[in-house]
Amino acid sequence: MAYAFYGAMLSRRVDHFVESVIRDMTRLSIKHDAINLAQGFPDFPAPEELKRAAADAIMGDYNQYSITWGAKDLREEISRKALKYNHIEADPESEVTVTCGSTEAMMAAMLALINEGEEVVVFEPFYENYGPDAAVSGAVPRFVPLKDDCTIDEDALTSAFNKKTRALILNTPNNPCGKVFTKDELKLIADLCADHDVIAVTDEIYEYILYDGKKHISIASLDEMKDRTITISGFSKTYSVTGWRIGYAVAEKRLTSAIRKVHDFLTVGAPAPLQHACVTALKFPDPYYKELAKMYDGKRKLLYNALTKAGFRCLLPEGAYYILADIPDGVGMDDMEFARHLVSKVGVAAVPGSSFFKGEAGKHKLRFTFSKKEETLMEAARRLEGLKL
Ligand code: PLP
Repeated sequence: MAYAFYGAMLSRRVDHFVESVIRDMTRLSIKHDAINLAQGFPDFPAPEELKRAAADAIMGDYNQYSITWGAKDLREEISRKALKYNHIEADPESEVTVTCGSTEAMMAAMLALINEGEEVVVFEPFYENYGPDAAVSGAVPRFVPLKDDCTIDEDALTSAFNKKTRALILNTPNNPCGKVFTKDELKLIADLCADHDVIAVTDEIYEYILYDGKKHISIASLDEMKDRTITISGFSKTYSVTGWRIGYAVAEKRLTSAIRKVHDFLTVGAPAPLQHACVTALKFPDPYYKELAKMYDGKRKLLYNALTKAGFRCLLPEGAYYILADIPDGVGMDDMEFARHLVSKVGVAAVPGSSFFKGEAGKHKLRFTFSKKEETLMEAARRLEGLKL
């Protein structure tokens, strides 16, 4: 009886998605004492200066609610950063919202924009969260597969737009495939958004993690997109503080006002002392960002070599800190089975590819992160060498 009662209490909304496979793989990794190359968080310390700033903020009594849409000094620094790095002008008073991670910013943006049944264009492969974000906000996702070399299929993209299209999610650099969208590609997207009166919601959380001279371009910096883009980023990846849960959304006034309403009632605000510490992060000098990308470049090559040696086929990512690898021929297992085999028998956790694809393509792939210490990656490489195919 109790079962039937609880069953009746659940919303239809939660039937449309399952718990995160990425976070589930982390739990399995802990259970099997495996090396966790599944979830994208660093296993090395956050910058000393940042940790001190957070401790000082708590001791300095920044312990009560901040202004709901973010501490003033942090919004001002975000506005300065947006102008300098992203070439986006944003008024800190009315166009910047600090959120609980970019995760909350994306959900708040979708809830603020979408009416039940309206469509959202999403490139495939995509970050796992966008499916549930769509389900919760009532959006219908329209997946547009990237080509094998990760470039845009112009016809497929064009035909995804229709009268119901309300938004497009753009993640650059991309998780899981490491694609960095070029200016020409952004122009194509911008033209389609303008023609169909569509808002671009971007996820630029890996904006500083770029390789081989690639440049990050924010679509909001294109003239026609300034007022039709919600630019989302955060502190998790750039400053190795994924547990702090500080992100933000930059958008023109009317969009920001809608996002702020959702944000206020969803979370009230992001952690006040950590917001204060993030002001210190945004004052880091330029070499910090160069060093960050250089550090990840070394890790990228290490993991790439280990995976190719173990029989995986993969492309070197252009940005972010993941490698999406094809399962070696002859394994005879799909992505779920092989991920379970790897974590329990080889001691390395990865994410099944189907978490990032609507179609079948993901069934032959696994995603590995290299956001780990060199010694962690070396040990993973050693274990992968023992992979018996
Ligand atoms: N967006 C992408 C593409 C990610 O890969 C991740 C984390 O892995 C997030 C957002 C989560 O960011 P945050 O910690 O700011 O919520």
